[in-house]
Amino acid sequence: MSKTNGKGRRATVIGAGIVGVCSALYLQREGFAVTLIDRRGPGEEASTGNGGCFGYASCVPLSMPGLALKAPLMLLDPDAPFKLRWRDAPRLTPWFLRFLGNCNKPSVEDIADARFALLSRMYDGFEPLLAQAGAEDMVKRDGMLYVFETEKALAQSAYGLNLRRRRGVKMEELSGDQAREMEPALGPSVKNAFFFPQVGRTVNPLRLAQVLARHFTDQGGTLLRRQATDFEIGAEGARQVLTGSGSVECDLVVIAAGVWSRPLAQKLGSNFPLVAERGYNVMLPDPRVTPSRCVISGERYVGITPMEHGLRVAGLAEFAAADAPPVYARAERLLGLLAGLFPGVNTAGFEPWMGPRPSLPDSRPVIGRSPKHGNVLFAFGHDHIGLSTAGITGQLIGELAAGRPPSMDIEAYRPDRF
Ligand SMILES: Cc1cc2nc3c(=O)[nH]c(=O)nc-3n(C[C@H](O)[C@H](O)[C@H](O)COP(=O)(O)OP(=O)(O)OC[C@H]3O[C@@H](n4cnc5c(N)ncnc54)[C@H](O)[C@@H]3O)c2cc1C
Repeated sequence: MSKTNGKGRRATVIGAGIVGVCSALYLQREGFAVTLIDRRGPGEEASTGNGGCFGYASCVPLSMPGLALKAPLMLLDPDAPFKLRWRDAPRLTPWFLRFLGNCNKPSVEDIADARFALLSRMYDGFEPLLAQAGAEDMVKRDGMLYVFETEKALAQSAYGLNLRRRRGVKMEELSGDQAREMEPALGPSVKNAFFFPQVGRTVNPLRLAQVLARHFTDQGGTLLRRQATDFEIGAEGARQVLTGSGSVECDLVVIAAGVWSRPLAQKLGSNFPLVAERGYNVMLPDPRVTPSRCVISGERYVGITPMEHGLRVAGLAEFAAADAPPVYARAERLLGLLAGLFPGVNTAGFEPWMGPRPSLPDSRPVIGRSPKHGNVLFAFGHDHIGLSTAGITGQLIGELAAGRPPSMDIEAYRPDRF
C-alpha cells in the first residue's frame, strides 16, 4: 500500500479537535505537507471535556424508539437528561423533526450498524497514532460497567442491550454484589450490571489531543492559531484558506471543525443540519473513591471516568447555540447523581465544564468528499462518539486524500445524504 500519494501536495485541516488532529496525522502518513489551523489550542473545545470513554458499545443512538412520545415531557422535566434553550427552539425545530423521524426501529437498526462499523475499528484507527507518538499508555482497555438500580430502567434498556449484543458487543451480566466486587465504592442501590470488556478510556482527553498534536509538529507539521473565515475557489476547488491573519495555500482541505463546520461547509456550498448537543462535566480533583474503569448509570444518564487528574462525571444533552453561555447549575446537578452511586465520593473543589457535541439528526458523522469540490473532505458530526472514532475517521480521510478506495464502506456517512 502506497503511503506517498500525498507527496509534494499541501493539505490544510481546519480544526484541531481530536478529529482534526487524527486526520492531520494520517495525512502526514500519506506524505502530505500538512497545515493544521485552529483558533484555539489543540483539543480545547468538545475534545477537552468528554467522558474519555472509548465506547465500543456506543452504537445505540439518542433517537431510540418511543423517544418521540417522551421527548416533550422530558424537556419540561428538570431531572431529565435532555435540555433545550427555549430561545433557540425555532432554529432547532427542523433538526428535531428530522431527529424524531429516526426514532423508530428500522432507522435505529441502520444507525446502529453505521455507528458500530466505525466503533468496531476504533482501536485500529488509534493504535498506529498512539504508537508513533509513544503515547500508548494514554488509552486503557479496562472495560466499562453499565449499572442499574431499578428493574424499570433495566427493562427499558433491554432493546439497547440487545441491539449491542446482536452486533457482537461482548457483555457479561452481573448481580449488584458482583458489580461491587469489581468496583467496591459502588453503593448498595446498584442491583444489576453489565460488564463490557471491549470498552476503553483515555486517562486525559485534552492531553491526548495535545500529545498527538505535538507529535504532528515534531514530524514537520505546521500548527497555526488562526480563525479560518473563507476560501478562495479555483478551477480545481479550494485553493486557499482565508484566515483572520493571512491566507494558506493548499491542494486539499479537510473541514474538521466540530460543530463550527457548518458555516465553513456553507461557504463551500454545502448545507448540513449540524447542531450543538451540549454536554457538561464536573471534574473532582480529590474524589477519595476512584473506580478503576468507566461506569455508566442506566437511570442517572451519567458516565463516570477515572482520569489522571481526578474523577470526571459527564452527561446531559442540552440543545442550544454552541456559543451561548453555559448553565453551570446543570453541571452541578451531576454531583448529586454521582453521590447516589458512589456514596463516599468527595466533591470538594469540583470544576464544571460545558462543550458542544457536533450532532446530526441521523446520529452518524459526515466523512467523505464534498459534492461541490473534489479537493475538499469533510470529517465532522461525531456526536457522542467523536473521541472513540477520531482515529478511524482520520484513517479514512487519509485514504480518500491519497485517492485510494477507503478500507471500509463509508456510504452511511456520505456528505450528500441531506
Ligand atoms: C460531555 C461530553 C461527553 C462526551 N463523552 C464522550 C465519550 O466518552 N466518548 C466519545 O467518544 N466521545 C464523547 N463525546 C463526544 C466527543 O467529545 C466529540 O464528538 C468530539 O470531541 C468532537 O471532536 P471534533 O474534533 O469534531 O470537535 P472539537 O473538539 O469541538 O474541535 C473542533 C475544533 O475546531 C476549531 N474551530 C472551529 N471553527 C474554526 C474556525 N473557523 N477556524 C479555526 N478553527 C476552528 C475549534 O476551536 C475546535 O478546536 C462527549 C462530548 C461531550 C460534550
